[in-house]
This record gives sequence, structure tokens and C-alpha cells, in this order.
Amino acid sequence: MKLVFLGPPGAGKGTIAALAKEHYQIPHISTGDLFRAHIKEHTPLGLEVEAILGRGDLVPDSVTVEMVRQRLGEPDAADGFILDGFPRTIAQADALKGMSGLDGVINFVLDDEVIIARLSGRRMCKSTGRIYHILYNPPKREGFDDETGEPLIQRADDQIEAIHNRLEVYQRQTFPLIDYYRERNLLIDVDASGSPDEIFALVKEVLAP
Ligand code: AMP
Repeated sequence: MKLVFLGPPGAGKGTIAALAKEHYQIPHISTGDLFRAHIKEHTPLGLEVEAILGRGDLVPDSVTVEMVRQRLGEPDAADGFILDGFPRTIAQADALKGMSGLDGVINFVLDDEVIIARLSGRRMCKSTGRIYHILYNPPKREGFDDETGEPLIQRADDQIEAIHNRLEVYQRQTFPLIDYYRERNLLIDVDASGSPDEIFALVKEVLAP
């Protein structure tokens, strides 16, 4: 199954993609996670994009598309994948069309107030990328990852100023993809206001044959 998870930041795409990856046994390809891995490793790409991510702006299309092209060329993505956070612009969607067909685009639908509450409470394990929320999905021990025991961090772009910028960037650059994929009969709306289990149940329902 070849899927795109579309929706505003904080809609739960990463959390649901982690569940879907296990369920459907397909790789979860998050461009945000790929960029963060480059930043952590101090690669040339990481150095190039670090400030952009910190502000919540978009990395240039050419850079992002090339990274995704390489990732989709890896053997584990041959039969299926979940793209989480890509495409985010019409140019990226056009580029993706040249790389692979798609079975569906799940559009996670959520109000701005809920998005802000979710993002500002979000915490992450830096080494595994595992995501928590201080209220809705807390770790077993406050402030620490369930499996590795490492201290959880708050992403720079989950601070309030960057959140507002990311929402604006989403409206301007990514929102037009909803019509883009609707016109191509690929868009499937999913109410993303529930718990991760509830949202994932809806996703499974809409993807069931
Ligand atoms: P995410 O984890 O999906 O919220 O992505 C974190 C950040 O990575 C975004 O705010 C952008 O700076 C960058 N990023 C992720 N995916 C893309 C993309 N498809 N195009 C451009 N920038 C991206």
C-alpha cells in the first residue's frame, strides 16, 4: 500500500504512521525525521537545514525531493510506504507523481486550537523519534522515554512562535494539496480529533478493501 499522510502539523500523522507501519508492515518515511537525523549526525544536509527547521519554515523543494527520491529507491519501499510530511507543496506533489503511484492520501482534519494544544504539549525521544504528549499520551515515567529511559525533549519548532509560523506555512503552501489530491480522487478525509487508537481505527476503516 502506497500512502501519503497529509494534514497540519500536530494532527497526529507521525503517531498514526508508527501504528500503521506495524499493522501494514510498510516503512514509515517521515521527511521531518529524516531531516532531524541529518541534523543530529551533523551531515552537510543537516547543517544546511537546521535553522530552517528551527523556524518552522520549509526546506527548499529541490533538497527535499532529492532526499525522498533516494529513500523511495531503497528496497523496503518497493511495495509500499507511508509518506508522512511529504509532499508539502504542489511542486513536491508533482515530483512525487514522477516517482511513484499512490493508493490513497489520508487527510487528517483538525481545528487550529487543538493543533496548538497538541504541539505545545508534545515531547519526543531524540534518539528514537518516539512521540509523547504530556496530557494525551504521557510516558510511563514523566519526562523519560518508555523504552530507552532517555530524557524527553521539546522540539525547537514546538515552541509557540514556531508553531504559529508552521500553521501559516501549512495554510499557504500545503493546504492547496487537499484540492490537488481531491481532484485526482485520492483524498480520504479522517477526523483527527480523537485519541491515537480512535484515529487509527478510522484509518483502518477507510483503507479496508
Ligand atoms: P515535521 O516533523 O513533519 O513536522 O517536519 C519538521 C520540519 O521539517 C518542517 O517544519 C520543515 O522545516 C521540514 N520539512 C519536513 N518535511 C518537509 C517537506 N516535505 N518539505 C519541506 N520541508 C519539510
